[in-house]
Amino acid sequence: MNANTLSEITNLWNKVLSECENKIDDQRIFDAFFKDTYIHSIDGKSMIISCNSSLTTTILHDKYKDIITSIVDELTGTNFEVNFVTESELKDTSKKLVIDDKPKFFTNCFVSPNYTFDNFVVGPSNKEASQASLIVASTPGKLYNPLFIYSQSGLGKTHLLNAIANYVKETNPTMKVLYCSSQTFFEEYMNLIKDRHTNDDLKDYIKQFDFLLIDDIQFFQNKKSTEEFFFSIFEFLKANNKQIVLTSDRSPIELKELDPRLQTRFTSGLPISILKPTTEMCKEILMKKIEGSGLSLSIFDDEVLDLLSSKFKNSIRDLEGALNRLLFYANMNHLDHINLDTAIAALQSLIDVGDSKNKVSEQRILNIVADYYNLSVGQITGKIKTGQIVNARHIAIYLLRTMLDVSLKHIGELFSNRDHTTIMHSVSKVEGMLKDDNQARIAISELKKRISA
Ligand code: ADP
Ligand code: MG
Repeated sequence: MNANTLSEITNLWNKVLSECENKIDDQRIFDAFFKDTYIHSIDGKSMIISCNSSLTTTILHDKYKDIITSIVDELTGTNFEVNFVTESELKDTSKKLVIDDKPKFFTNCFVSPNYTFDNFVVGPSNKEASQASLIVASTPGKLYNPLFIYSQSGLGKTHLLNAIANYVKETNPTMKVLYCSSQTFFEEYMNLIKDRHTNDDLKDYIKQFDFLLIDDIQFFQNKKSTEEFFFSIFEFLKANNKQIVLTSDRSPIELKELDPRLQTRFTSGLPISILKPTTEMCKEILMKKIEGSGLSLSIFDDEVLDLLSSKFKNSIRDLEGALNRLLFYANMNHLDHINLDTAIAALQSLIDVGDSKNKVSEQRILNIVADYYNLSVGQITGKIKTGQIVNARHIAIYLLRTMLDVSLKHIGELFSNRDHTTIMHSVSKVEGMLKDDNQARIAISELKKRISA
């Protein structure tokens, strides 16, 4: 069948619709999304279907395109490329339509399904960044625009960007998310220039997204034409309440080589930094990664987790690297349990072992004293001044000072930054107790035995 005249076209579409109505179980879906559509034009093998809203174009395109195309092809005996466009887009003739089925740009950009909010450990160093990310993912374009996350490398920026994309995909699948690195953005733009194409296609392509997530924006510095191009897209998206999230290895103010207009835009949104994690966070992340990879925590001695989390706080990427190396080492040596000696042997090139032995012993003394007095390490090193805690604190300080080669200053730092005279006072206090307090003498000798065991 040929569809040439207006009445033939109308006739064809009516037949397509009635076939669709038969095939779609839910009449409400048909009424809401199919009923008011019509063929706007046929050009060669391309058929443009006019829809009354962008939601309809999205639904028809994402969910029903295959059914519709097969019905059209069956009725016409031709392989049509069916595209859905809103009436308002069709009216705006000055605008080039983006009707290509497959994205022509950013074909190498993929969101990693492994980076989610669920497996992102939140602590004091990243709480703001993670909360703000969740807010923009659930209420895009409203509050913080752009959200600008910055930190040193390895602290979770890329993880959060992917988490936003995954969250939107799951909770709001009709929203379109473009996630890419600034290098990819730059390359896409340069390819256009190289081929002497107009950049309108790329601009139109990007403008259809509800989220633009660009990683490592610092690479835009000193790339004048890319910055210029990005600026115009930025202004458009922001004016249309589309959400922009950017990451960088430094704050907007420190992006000194960036176009000053961009710099002010970035500052005016919400710049948030991620700081280095605490040891506790590192330990939690480590445990999550271990469990996430299907291993049991029970194959690790707790001291091993403490060693890793205290040694690799500067970068979670390094922390993961150390864990991987440790697992590799254990595997090569057919070990099914990992103790401190194994960890030190596996990681000796990554860490200063002498220092780590000391660190671990410090931790060991604190753990054993805490255990002995039924307290937490935090209580012992903290500021509370009740009798039992103060007593345990004096003893822990005394043991650290006498069993290890560490300075008063360093011990002070371990104990909530007390100054060295306070530490000295604890040591002499325990020396006094050893002379005339039998119970204290017994306790200390028992503790020493446990620590050296
Ligand atoms: P950045 O982009 O800041 O350099 P990434 O997001 O690539 O850092 O993080 C490096 C690695 O550390 C990733 O594997 C990521 O999953 C992990 N990571 C970082 N922060 C966290 C966190 N808070 N919880 C869990 N994993 C984290
Ligand atoms: Mg990154």
